Amino acid sequence: MTARDKHLLETPQAPRTLAASAHTGDTAPAEPPAAAKKNIKDYTLAELTAWMTAQGEPVFHARQIFQWLYQKRVRQFQEMTTLSKSLRMLLESHFHMGNLEAASRQESSDGSRKFAFRLSDGRLVEAVLMPNNTHYTVCISSQVGCAMGCAFCMTAKMGLERNLTPGEIVGQVVELAREIQDDKLVRNVVYMGMGEPLHNFEPVMSSLAILQEDFGFGLSQRRITVSTSGLVPAIRRFGAHPARVMLAISLNGVTDATRGTLMPVNRRWPIAEVLQACRDIPSDNRYRITFEYILMKGVTDDLADARKLVRLLHGMKCKVNLIPYNPYPGSPFHAPDLERCHAFQRLLLERGLLATLRISKGQDIQAACGQLITGAKTAAERVKMTLSELEASLGG
Ligand code: SAH
Ligand code: SF4
Repeated sequence: MTARDKHLLETPQAPRTLAASAHTGDTAPAEPPAAAKKNIKDYTLAELTAWMTAQGEPVFHARQIFQWLYQKRVRQFQEMTTLSKSLRMLLESHFHMGNLEAASRQESSDGSRKFAFRLSDGRLVEAVLMPNNTHYTVCISSQVGCAMGCAFCMTAKMGLERNLTPGEIVGQVVELAREIQDDKLVRNVVYMGMGEPLHNFEPVMSSLAILQEDFGFGLSQRRITVSTSGLVPAIRRFGAHPARVMLAISLNGVTDATRGTLMPVNRRWPIAEVLQACRDIPSDNRYRITFEYILMKGVTDDLADARKLVRLLHGMKCKVNLIPYNPYPGSPFHAPDLERCHAFQRLLLERGLLATLRISKGQDIQAACGQLITGAKTAAERVKMTLSELEASLGG
């Protein structure tokens, strides 16, 4: 039995946040209240099956519960009518449903909808539902805030408040799916909302298992993308992990000088180390890499940068996703004009790099992924983390 199995079976306990573990001052971020009942959505199917076995219940009930939670998306145990009354009562005495309440909704002119969901401790996280012709893509958060401090990102202004649990991560997908009025399904999930997913490694990995489960959403590996700012030890763990979902690396600069100014994490793991970690991912997983590159006027949009990008990624099986900078009130950068964005893309394409230009959805509601925020803090209020604390918190 792993430590996590043990925790799920025995000890009701709030998750330990990496920020809390790396922070020793008085202003350590609060954990969610240690609830007597556990969030049933924190459990993978294997973990719920183990719980059933420990209770002496037939294990197929775990599969039925998954169907009620993720396919029928009920909000109460009493609605799980294929389970006996006594099992429903047993569940109710041990678990809560982990329903998230929508504290706010905003609809963009292009149809994408941004939600702020309230967590059990009152904190808010944001998620976006984006319609396509045949399906929906959802963009979800992995942490409340983020510790990485990127200069261009609104979420960075919050600092890291706490990690989300697996149930709080998949809960966002459940609530967004409940909002869908037509017969289209959620087909793609991107971890590009608030937070650095690889800084919350285990809960994110559990959430991936839950989303992929056939008795749950049954999402394909190729339809889930985890985006990272480039935490090298975590990229290596991720590359070797059986979850085998798509990986996106936020590159956003082609020299360590530029990237280090924009993304403090680059001062610990510079570009060459990030790329080497990508190259070292086992070959059957390696093709799943996208490099995200924000085009910022006068900062990252020089055509010489495009040529450098081609050289950096030479020989790698990958794709580049160009994102024109999405400004917000008071943001320090600007997007280049569309002509420059196209010229940058054209140069990459001409030199054999697969490159897409993402014209962000939901610009009028600031729903671009990575731009979600529930309240900026002053520098003094932010949870601070040094790079060595960050590295120590990534562990094995
Ligand atoms: N923390 C992860 C995932 C969330 S951010 C990461 O950084 O990869 C998701 C993406 O949004 C990242 O590629 C980030 O570079 C991008 N992003 C952040 N702020 C942005 C902005 N103002 N305009 C355009 N893209 C932005
Ligand atoms: Fe965090 Fe990503 Fe924003 Fe950087 S871009 S601060 S890693 S959410």
